[in-house]
Amino acid sequence: MSIVDLRSDTVTQPSLAMRKIISQAIVGDDTHGDDPSVNMLQQDIADRLGFEAALFFPSGTQSNLCAILSHCERGDEYLVGQNAHCYRFEGGGAAVFGSVQPQPLAHLADGTLSIDDIRSAVKPDDAHFARTRLLALENTFGGKVMPLSFLEQATNVAKEFGLARHLDGARLFNAAVAQTHERQGDPWKQAKDIVRYFDSVSVCFSKGLGAPVGSALCGSKELVARARRLRKTAGGSMRQAGMMAAAASYALEHHVDDLQNDHELATRLANGLRDIAGLRVKACATNMVFVQLEAGSTVAATARTTELVDHLRKHGILATGLYDLRFVTHRDVDQAGIDKVIAAIKSFF
Ligand SMILES: *Cc1c(COP(=O)(O)O)cnc(C)c1O
Repeated sequence: MSIVDLRSDTVTQPSLAMRKIISQAIVGDDTHGDDPSVNMLQQDIADRLGFEAALFFPSGTQSNLCAILSHCERGDEYLVGQNAHCYRFEGGGAAVFGSVQPQPLAHLADGTLSIDDIRSAVKPDDAHFARTRLLALENTFGGKVMPLSFLEQATNVAKEFGLARHLDGARLFNAAVAQTHERQGDPWKQAKDIVRYFDSVSVCFSKGLGAPVGSALCGSKELVARARRLRKTAGGSMRQAGMMAAAASYALEHHVDDLQNDHELATRLANGLRDIAGLRVKACATNMVFVQLEAGSTVAATARTTELVDHLRKHGILATGLYDLRFVTHRDVDQAGIDKVIAAIKSFF
């Protein structure tokens, strides 16, 4: 039985073409700065997104961590969404390793933050408080594309208070592709338009782009130099990392436009589930579909969700979710796989 794995877009396997590129990569010792494939990737993504420099990381978690610690010092704080990855889903790294405290803010229904909340969360210069130093946003957030007008307003408030601005753009290209698709635009131009509000951005290659591992942190030369020291301290300075950087470069060249297919599969799934009584479907413009099971209580709904997950597993379908049940489409699923998921969920009900 072939498995339809919708737990995450991180499950994507490197294609044969990508494996060939990996096997042929010209490499060096990146800790000494002389891996040509790493240097090429860093230069390329920095140039194309409009930053001075970039740094290749083994993971997005480490890239976000080193970004936050590059912007902040011990005793500082960063403003961040309550459900943002770099607050909720990274083991509290900024606090654990950097003594930087998060100041989480509630999300609005569309995933954005209230501009007033951002403004009033900035703490006065007073010994009672941590120093507010950074605003960290995320795009896409929970699969949702953040409107440019929100990014502009939020980062303007940050600027007003002298805060640095970081974007967790793990799925930056999903946002860019979704925003350009209707008008046949260039996703790279859109990506550049998204990141221009920020001092730093972290982009994952290991999600929908389909590379095996890695993220890049883009920023000024000065910021990247600080992040490079922190990356070493965090144990993330690699050696012949060009094997992985070559895969990331290949993904940037060949897989960005393909993200549109993932988005269409998610729409197909959401539409296929829409009419099922007892199921609340929350679709978005990119590659995620969230569902909530309606039951008498939260406890009952959780139990029913576990039953559904077990039922799907028996049908060769994998899905998970730390809060709502989540289905993530990616380049290793197709229409037939999605139709199988729809049929299996219908059979459960
Ligand atoms: C996956 C993800 C990360 C972290 O990437 P890892 O490579 O898994 O550490 C950061 N932010 C967001 C929004 C993500 O989805």
